Parts: sequence; C-alpha cells; structure tokens
Amino acid sequence: MIQEFMTPTSIEEAVVLKKTRSGSLYFGGGTEINHAGSSKKSDCVISLEKLGLNSVEQNGNQLILGASVTLQELIDAPLVPVTLQKAARHIYSRNVRNMATLGGNIGANRSDSALIPCLIALSADLDTAEDGRISVEDYISGNKQSLILSVIVPKQKGSCVVKKVSKSSASSAIITVAVRIDGSWGNINGAVLAVGGIGSQIMRLWSVEDGLKSGSIKNRDELQLAVSNVVAPQTDVLGSVSYKKYICGVTVADCVDECMEVAL
Ligand SMILES: Cc1cc2nc3c(=O)[nH]c(=O)nc-3n(C[C@H](O)[C@H](O)[C@H](O)COP(=O)(O)OP(=O)(O)OC[C@H]3O[C@@H](n4cnc5c(N)ncnc54)[C@H](O)[C@@H]3O)c2cc1C
Repeated sequence: MIQEFMTPTSIEEAVVLKKTRSGSLYFGGGTEINHAGSSKKSDCVISLEKLGLNSVEQNGNQLILGASVTLQELIDAPLVPVTLQKAARHIYSRNVRNMATLGGNIGANRSDSALIPCLIALSADLDTAEDGRISVEDYISGNKQSLILSVIVPKQKGSCVVKKVSKSSASSAIITVAVRIDGSWGNINGAVLAVGGIGSQIMRLWSVEDGLKSGSIKNRDELQLAVSNVVAPQTDVLGSVSYKKYICGVTVADCVDECMEVAL
C-alpha cells in the first residue's frame, strides 16, 4: 500500500528522489501500480503530475509525445497516428484511459500491451532523464526504470497496423500484434513484426522479418506458417500452445495484408 506520495516539481528533483528512496516508483496515472495483482508495487511513489510532461508536438518529421499524456488524450489528439490511437483504444475502459499515461504503459512493460508493439513497429525512441535517448525496444528488453520524459515517433515509410486478440473487449489480450510493412509481396523493403502475449515481454520476430525482406517468405501462407513455427507460447487459461501459435500466425498475416492494402 502507498504510504508516501511525493510530488516533485522538477525533473531533477524527481530523479534525486528516485535515487535516494530505495524501492520507490515513478507514478504516472497509477492504474498499473494500483491494479490488484500488479508486480509494480511500492509504499513510496513519485508523482509525475507536476513535471509538465503532457504536451503533444510535431517537430519536423518527429512527433513528440510527453510521457504523462494520457491514453485518452492520445486518442483525442489529431496529430497522433491512427495506429497508435487504435493501440490506446485496446484498453477498453475510458475511465482507465483517462488516468493511464503513455510513459506508464511503457514502464509497466506488460506483455499484453498493444501500445508497446505499436511503438516498436513505428521505431519510436524515448527521451529519458537518466539514460538519454533510447529505443522503446532497448528500454523494455533492458527492464530499464529511468524516467521517461517523452516518446519520439519518427515519420516512417510504409503502413502500420495493430491488432489485439481477446475473448471480449474487456478481457485480457491473448496476443497483441503490431506490424509495419514498406512494400508488397515480391518487393518488401522494410518489415517490423512485434508480438505481445507470447513470452514475458513483447518480442520482435526477427527471422520472419528477414524472410520477408529477403523474399524467402513469398506469400501469406508461408508467412503464417513461419510465424507459428517461430513463436513459443505457453498453455494457460487464455489458450493452448497450438491455438496461440495458430492465432499468432493468422493475426500477423492479417496485419501484413492490411498494411499492403493501405499502401495501395
Ligand atoms: C481494468 C484495467 C485494464 C487494463 N488493461 C491493460 C491492457 O490491456 N494492456 C496494458 O498494457 N495495460 C493494461 N492495464 C494496466 C495499465 O492501465 C496500463 O498499463 C497503463 O498504461 C499504465 O499507465 P499508468 O500511467 O497508470 O502507469 P502507473 O501505474 O503510474 O505506472 C506503471 C509503471 O510504470 C512506471 N512509470 C510510470 N510513468 C513512468 C515514466 N514516465 N517513466 C518511467 N516509468 C514510469 C511506474 O513506476 C510503474 O512501474 C489495465 C489496467 C486496468 C485497471
């Protein structure tokens, strides 16, 4: 249970508090920290509310999203790419989206996040207080805890599609998938495939990306099979290994098809 709620008014103060208060956590919207069953628990939290990290700005070819922008603000901001807005909508409850922040979603580092794979597919970077500029992928795979100040989304070639597979809009994601494709069958110049819900963290399907770019994966059927073969899910209450392998292959293939349709 939270015993101390610190409210720093500068980034420097927040970083010093984090260093000096052992076990403390940065606190965005608190929807993960206060979520029953969350692994992110501390009796001392450092609120980011007064740091002014809630702007949405276009800077040349880059969109700069403040870490404290809420998921609902992402959806409502006209500058934000539609795919990122769709990813934010996958948290079904508007009440949660009104509190939950972009930085908090990355900090929570949940395997069922739809936003993290989407940011990876968009090749987004983070500006952090302690680690400087770092890719979203390196931040989550390194289990970093540095203070995220903003998310930098560069303009990318190709199209990006995100999907969540779940039993209902309110239930946990079985898998989440985000794909960015530049090109079409026979001429794929760029491919990023990021999948959630399979392991403990969001994963890139590097070998399948290479197969798409080299042309060794030539069509939808080969893609679906390659994805099913490369993922190693666990059986749990959400589905069996064979179901998850199958649905992952189908969903990635659907995303790639949609990317190619959008590009036409
Ligand atoms: C009903 C319900 C459904 C949910 N469904 C989903 C879902 O489908 N997918 C999903 O991913 N999540 C889900 N969540 C969890 C949570 O709402 C989201 O992950 C949310 O985006 C977390 O944001 P927050 O600002 O509330 O994070 P917080 O709870 O404030 O923080 C989460 C973690 O991130 C860290 N953190 C916060 N801000 C920063 C920052 N700027 N820099 C560095 N670290 C930071 C914190 O220290 C903490 O470790 C759900 C929660 C609820 C209650």
